[in-house]
Amino acid sequence: MADLFVCLSFDHDNVAAGIARDMVSIAAISRGDFGITAVRRLLALLAERRIPSTWFIPGHTTESYPSCAHAVHAGGHEIGNHGWTHRSPLILNRDGEAEELMSGSMAIEALTGRRPRGYRAPGRDLSPHSVDLLVDEGFLYDSSMMGQDYIPYQARTGDRVALLDPMEFGADTALVEMPVHWSLDDKPYFEATGAEAGAPPRPMNARLVVETWIDEFRYMKKHLDWGVLTYTFHPHVIGRGHRMLVLEHLLAVLRREGATFLTLEDAVTEYRRKFPDGVSLRGR
Ligand SMILES: [Zn+2]
Repeated sequence: MADLFVCLSFDHDNVAAGIARDMVSIAAISRGDFGITAVRRLLALLAERRIPSTWFIPGHTTESYPSCAHAVHAGGHEIGNHGWTHRSPLILNRDGEAEELMSGSMAIEALTGRRPRGYRAPGRDLSPHSVDLLVDEGFLYDSSMMGQDYIPYQARTGDRVALLDPMEFGADTALVEMPVHWSLDDKPYFEATGAEAGAPPRPMNARLVVETWIDEFRYMKKHLDWGVLTYTFHPHVIGRGHRMLVLEHLLAVLRREGATFLTLEDAVTEYRRKFPDGVSLRGR
């Protein structure tokens, strides 16, 4: 029987993502406030279906909306590091990024009593320092890259990239990459804004989007006997009524098609069992 794993990940960044981009108007904050209602709905759905999941929560969210963060932890879900302020690592220097990682982890440890094992970069913007910092801090996995779709792999450090030269691949590290993709993320479809211009989003039809998400699983089932598919949701995006209906539908179809739901941390354990030597993308 095939091992077809699905990880549901929730980037619970509410207002933090907006504030990090200077979106601090009352209206912008209210869009983040909707996360309070959304988290309640999502946790009820996950509990009802007995589905474990992984939540990447910036320290700013943990400390601004503590009851939401407590409810996620009380629901038995994994909590991963998503920075403290949700500033992109690309605009920080190495020390600044290290400080974000540390303060983000401390906020989570204060909540759960345990250091987070996983990381997702705010905006998925890994810097040239990110992988080394994550290894130094003892993280088990990152979930920000898009180098594969169904098979995790070892994150590299020290690639040399120059316009006129071929790639020089750096070394594989102990950090496991649990890949993601924009097409498996709710935000680009529903709430992507021309933020700088303050333009409102132009949401897609959620019923069409869910077919894309389902087909991604069906391809895995058709061609692989082992794989991990990771979806990314944002509570304040997926938590709208019409989108909750398609999420309910997605979960029902995935289960019917044979998906096993895992936290990302548990999926890393499965990966290590399946690929004891790790999977390398170096020079493929
Ligand atoms: Zn985020």
